[in-house]
Amino acid sequence: MSTNNHEDAVISAINTLAAAKVQAPGAIASGVQGLVYLQDLCHVLAANWWIDMATGERKTLDQVNVPEKLCLIHSEISEAMEGHRKNLMDDKLPHRKMLEVELADALIRILDLAGFLGLDMAGATAEKLAFNMQRADHKIENRKAEGGKAF
Ligand SMILES: [Mg+2]
Repeated sequence: MSTNNHEDAVISAINTLAAAKVQAPGAIASGVQGLVYLQDLCHVLAANWWIDMATGERKTLDQVNVPEKLCLIHSEISEAMEGHRKNLMDDKLPHRKMLEVELADALIRILDLAGFLGLDMAGATAEKLAFNMQRADHKIENRKAEGGKAF
């Protein structure tokens, strides 16, 4: 799919989301753009994690273990679960719940990895939200039906 098709798909998704009237179309578009900036920020600030320590050079895709990066995201989710299970406050940001901070860690790792891989998390998120909004299997009556999604 070309960039223009991607842009068209994101614009279409924003319009679909705006139809829900939860936020104004401009606010939705700003949120999507904000996620673009946040992904860039997460990846730039994590630059040292993408350096080959032996050579000092930035790693190439074939030098990165993507499954390992995905496991690191999962480890943050597991930490969030443990914090929630024990109703703990975070040890590094003690004014915040551990659940909140570990989910932030997961988000940072997701956006950092997406930045390295050149993924468009903002556009994909907007498109997936719009897609989910129209899913029959997400409607309450279908979730209540036999075989429906209970959670
Ligand atoms: Mg963590």
